Amino acid sequence: MGKEKVAIIGSGNWGSAIASIAGKNASRQPELFDDSRIPMWVFEEEVNGRKLTEIINETKINEKYLPGITLPANIYATSDLDEAVHDATAFIFVLPHQFLGKVIEQMKGKVAPGAKGITLIKGVDVTADEIRIFADIIQKELGIRCSALSGANIADEGKFDRFTVAAEKFSETTIGYRKKEDGEMWKKLFETDAFRVQIVEDVAGVSLCGALKNIVAVAAGFMDGLEWGDNAKAAIMRIGLLEMKQFCLEFFDDVKAETFLQESAGIADLITSCKPAKLLVKVAFVKAGKSFEDLEKELLNGQKLQGVHTVSFFEYRKWPSVKLIPCVLRKAKDVHGFLKAKNRVEGYPLFAAVYECAFKGRDIKTITKHLD
Ligand code: NAD
Repeated sequence: MGKEKVAIIGSGNWGSAIASIAGKNASRQPELFDDSRIPMWVFEEEVNGRKLTEIINETKINEKYLPGITLPANIYATSDLDEAVHDATAFIFVLPHQFLGKVIEQMKGKVAPGAKGITLIKGVDVTADEIRIFADIIQKELGIRCSALSGANIADEGKFDRFTVAAEKFSETTIGYRKKEDGEMWKKLFETDAFRVQIVEDVAGVSLCGALKNIVAVAAGFMDGLEWGDNAKAAIMRIGLLEMKQFCLEFFDDVKAETFLQESAGIADLITSCKPAKLLVKVAFVKAGKSFEDLEKELLNGQKLQGVHTVSFFEYRKWPSVKLIPCVLRKAKDVHGFLKAKNRVEGYPLFAAVYECAFKGRDIKTITKHLD
C-alpha cells in the first residue's frame, strides 16, 4: 500500500489544531504518510488587511482561529480547494457543517479513487423525518469510505480554561470506523502522548453523540440558570445520556450501546459540554438587548457555535427568578420535529422538555417533571 497523502478541509479552531497534530505525526511516520506538504484548505478572508492564507504560510500561525499555536512546517494553507484535493488519499473534513454541502459539490469528480475520509464535524443533518450523519453524506456524495472522530476535545478553550488540545494537554477522542484498517490509519495520524485515540466500529454512534449531547447541555444550562446545583445537573446528564443512547439505538441499526458509557465521544464529551463555562453562550446569562451574534463574537472571537442557527431570546421578565436568557439550539427543534414525525415524542421526555421550554414558553422550573 502506498503512502497516504493527507488533505485538511477546513482551517478554523479545530481544523488548525488537528492540522498541527496531523502534520507532526505525518513527519514522524514518513513510511506511512507523504509528509512533504500537507494542504489545509482555507476559506479565504482578510485579517488585519491581509489574506489569512498569506499570514498562515508566512508565520505558520492561524492568527484568527488559533493564535499562539505554531503549525508544523509541512502544513500549508491554500484557498484553492482543487489544489488541496488533488492527489490526496486521506481527507480530514473539519469545517462548520453549514458549509459542507458546498464543499462536497466542489469536490465531486475530483477525488482520487480509493481515497478515504474522516469527519470531525459535530452535528447531524435533520430533514423532515430523516436524520443523517455527516459521515454518511460524505460517503454517499463523494464515494469515499468515511470515518468519524468526536470526543471530549476542545481545540482551544481560550479564556474559559487553560486546558487545550492545541497546547498538547492530555485529552481523549473516539474514532468510529467502518473498516478496522481505516480506524488504525487515522489513529496513527492523530494519536500523540497527549491526545489519546480509541477506535470503535461505530461511525453512527460516535457522530450522533456529538450532536445529541447539545440538547442535554441546554438542559444542564437551565439547571445552572435556576441555580439548582450540581446534584440537579448530574441527574439531567444521567437522564440525558440514557435518552441519547435510546435515540441512537432506536433509529440507527449499527450503533453500539457501549459507545455511550465507554468512549470519550459519549459520556466524556457530555460532561465537558455541560461545564458551566461552555454554557455561557448556549444559555447566555442576562445580557438584555445583545444579539446572539454579538455574544458569539464577544465570547468566542467569531468562532461559530455549532448547532446554533437561530436563537430565541426569551424576554427576561417572563422568568424573573431565572437569571438567564436561553439561546436555544436549533438541533433541539430539529430532533423534536423528527420525533414528532415518528410519533415518538413521549419516549424522550427530556428532549421534549428542552424543546418546550425553549420554543413553547414552558416554565423551565417544570423541566424535571415526568423525567425518570
Ligand atoms: P471555527 O468555528 O473555529 O471556524 C469557522 C471556520 O469556518 C473558519 O475556518 C472559517 O474560515 C470557515 N468559514 C467561514 N465561512 C465559510 C464559508 N462560507 N465556507 C466555508 N468555510 C467558511 O471552526 P472549527 O472550530 O474548526 O470547527 C469545525 C468543525 O469541527 C465544527 O463542526 C465543530 O463543531 C467541530 N469541532 C470543533 C471543536 C473545537 O474545539 N473547536 C471540537 C470538536 C469538533
